[in-house]
Amino acid sequence: MNISELLARHARKFPEKTAVIDGETELSYAEVNRTVNRLASSLARLGLGCGDKIALYMPNTKEFVFSYFAVLRLGAVVVPINARLTASEVQYILDHSDAKALIAHDSVHQALVPLVGKSDVIWIKTGKEEDGWRSLEELIGSGDPKEIVCLAKEEDEATILYTSGTTGRPKGVLFTHRNIITVADMIVIETKIDRHSRLLHLMPLSHSAPLHLFFVGGMYVGATHVVAPAFSPEALLELVERHKITHFFGAPVAYLLTAKHPRFMDYDLSSVRYWMYGGAPLSREEVRFVASRFGAERVMCLYGLTEAGPNGTYLAPEEHEEKAGSVGKYAALHCEVAIVDEQGNEVAPGEVGEIVLRGESVMKGYYKDEEKTNDVIRNGWLYTGDLARRDEDGYIWIVDRKKDVIISGGVNIYPKEVEDVLRTHPAIADVAVIGVPHPEWGETAKAFVVLSAPLELLAEDCKRFLSGKLADYKIPRLYEAIAELPRNATGKVLKQVLRAREAAQEVQG
Ligand code: ATP
Repeated sequence: MNISELLARHARKFPEKTAVIDGETELSYAEVNRTVNRLASSLARLGLGCGDKIALYMPNTKEFVFSYFAVLRLGAVVVPINARLTASEVQYILDHSDAKALIAHDSVHQALVPLVGKSDVIWIKTGKEEDGWRSLEELIGSGDPKEIVCLAKEEDEATILYTSGTTGRPKGVLFTHRNIITVADMIVIETKIDRHSRLLHLMPLSHSAPLHLFFVGGMYVGATHVVAPAFSPEALLELVERHKITHFFGAPVAYLLTAKHPRFMDYDLSSVRYWMYGGAPLSREEVRFVASRFGAERVMCLYGLTEAGPNGTYLAPEEHEEKAGSVGKYAALHCEVAIVDEQGNEVAPGEVGEIVLRGESVMKGYYKDEEKTNDVIRNGWLYTGDLARRDEDGYIWIVDRKKDVIISGGVNIYPKEVEDVLRTHPAIADVAVIGVPHPEWGETAKAFVVLSAPLELLAEDCKRFLSGKLADYKIPRLYEAIAELPRNATGKVLKQVLRAREAAQEVQG
């Protein structure tokens, strides 16, 4: 079994079944499979083959689907890159991954023009041939539609995904076919995705959950995939209604924005069986709000991280009433979970420890970085860097990420706890708390606040609001109003940008 074979098998079994919908274009499994064969044969003619790394720089489009499968059909390794990254960020990934070729979409290729011709990379893009770029359509047109049988085995390498770098330089997370198919198998069983399901892909397919869990998951069973290049609340609402979507996966921020859309109630969203959210924390209040809008019996929380496939834990719809805000009690299928102390021993209920995960979906390792791999995979367990505790019923509550913990005067402050309370302030739309250097305490907490209504005395108002709700030592001393929080493509707040900003101000000061 390999990922390419998933597509080929459905093309044989139900060739006419719709595989991909992109705008007004609908393509059957047979049509997609033929295009993939044509493109793979042309890529082979360019000298690309087994084990070569081929980068994709594309929003969610039918061409992404063709390219993804064509690369895998050759036994080559896909390196999906977020199409919002800048030329220098892409250059880093191309160099680090040893990419032999890059396939870009016409709508975004301009960003990479400064890189073209500077290395041996073969540059391909959709649309017309241009200086240094080959045309994807011409490669497809001149390719051979004859079936190419992909000989990749389960243990062969399939993909390198670069983490978004919220914890430093992006790391290349290397997956085998088996790692990815394991996650796909998990999600189709846990959320009942089948051949009749209709999946909407609005989150970037360059990230692990949208790609492995949701896209490969749907391909595993021959579902119909609606692809659209960018998320907006309107796109989500319109596409769900138009295509009678049954499953959606989105970052928490996508749900919050859509839930607040003034025309939310005008749309018929009744076709959706699972609204899956995950990839970043949501407070208990936010989960309740999202559930009240989208239907508590249909929302499902997924917890995981790129390095785990992503696999991890989930909170099922029926658990939301009582445990909204938790990431669940049990590991998802094909995964094991534990919360451990520094020595790797399971901590008692109520105590904070680090979440560790084990299973077939955990990455093969960081590409070309054995040291970092051995840092995070110990005794077969993946150390997630997420701190959490179990409640009296065994449910897991994420406390914060280990690297975000603020140590002030020797005591730990978990920014997430402070953020969750501040977010309930009626004049606060968004907030991020970081640690900043302090001469006596080592660090002190600073809150960056996005206001939805003016506050006369920001610091005083916030402190008064937090007083009585949080222990004194947790209440940030410093506050700054900010127009918008820096976020990555999956909606995660980029705290390192805020830290860098603070450091720069300190130097200037
Ligand atoms: P980097 O590894 O460079 O920091 P990243 O943060 O984007 O990149 P991901 O693998 O996308 O890496 O994110 C995984 C992290 O997201 C988890 O470790 C956890 O902190 C957080 N996360 C994922 N799902 C949930 C969830 N349901 N609730 C709370 N936090 C979550």
